[in-house]
Amino acid sequence: MKTEVLPASAPGTAARAAEVIRSGGLVGIPTETVYGLGANGLDAEAVLKIFEAKGRPQDNPLILHISAADELNQICHDIPDAAWVLAERFWPGPLTMVLPCRAIVPRRTTAGLDTVAVRCPASDVTREIIRAAGVPIAAPSANTSGKPSPTTAAHVLHDMDGKIDLIVDGGACRVGVESTIVDLTGDTPRLLRPGGVTPEELEALLGSLVVDPAVLGEIAPNAVVRAPGMKYKHYAPAGEVTILSGPSEAAAVFVRRHFSPGDAVLCFSEELPLFADFNPTAYGSESAPETLARGLFSALRGFDDTGARHIFARCPEGGGVAYAVQNRLKKAAGFHIITVPEEDTP
Ligand code: AMP
Ligand code: MG
Repeated sequence: MKTEVLPASAPGTAARAAEVIRSGGLVGIPTETVYGLGANGLDAEAVLKIFEAKGRPQDNPLILHISAADELNQICHDIPDAAWVLAERFWPGPLTMVLPCRAIVPRRTTAGLDTVAVRCPASDVTREIIRAAGVPIAAPSANTSGKPSPTTAAHVLHDMDGKIDLIVDGGACRVGVESTIVDLTGDTPRLLRPGGVTPEELEALLGSLVVDPAVLGEIAPNAVVRAPGMKYKHYAPAGEVTILSGPSEAAAVFVRRHFSPGDAVLCFSEELPLFADFNPTAYGSESAPETLARGLFSALRGFDDTGARHIFARCPEGGGVAYAVQNRLKKAAGFHIITVPEEDTP
């Protein structure tokens, strides 16, 4: 299959993408979070192609993308007031809600669950594609399963060339990590995945929010988890990632002692001088966590290009968007975290 790439801004791009979706094909779509791999979410055969192109386990359900909040009624039932409040405040935007699912949605899309994850993305062209296709678009991140998510059309082409019909190039993603997922099907809203909408923002609006243990903890291989995707190794470059937690200076001393040829360093821009001897990659500024979110996946993908065998990584602390960065980086590291000893501080 020849994979076509069209600029989002070119006339006719949305119409062409909608045509591919309606005819059961696959389209790489830009969103503000990461690029999605989209298909007609109501067509079980089209959805199967997503799992095949990504090599995604079939028990990992997909997110349905809609163009406006009122389309929720077509795919969900018993929608709680909280969902309308969140939609009013955060849509279009990087928030996914898990709600009871109508029978119109194939079980292939929800991986057999009776709930469905739904989001209205901020990208204008993607909402236009959804409207023109006239169906919700099922779309996971457009990467090979397990790899860091794509934040540019070039990343999508790298992983999906020859496997999908079309990529719509909308430039680099503004948020850079996947959407926040909140489950509204229980008694208390539950955060399943942190993202661009922060836990603090959700709590302020909802009154209470339970953070699912899978968000920052390691999952036992046979554990039952609320968001099935969370049990898989994720976001990982080919090289092994080790997070160095602790003060910058102590981390630099640790790297100096343990660095071997073929290793790499992922750090904050503020730390570049400290790691200057190790050809460091900065993924953003520690004082502006949204820049870390925007730069993380591109930096992790870069280590595959240079063939890094082992990556020493610095991870932000705290809440807000930094919380989402921690979640992705800890999963990329397989929860391998070393707290650098204070006595290593010079
Ligand atoms: P991705 O599209 O690759 O960003 O992954 C989608 C994420 O949404 C995965 O972690 C899924 O487990 C989660 N998800 C999708 N549908 C549901 C659902 N009905 N209930 C809970 N989690 C879901
Ligand atoms: Mg993904």
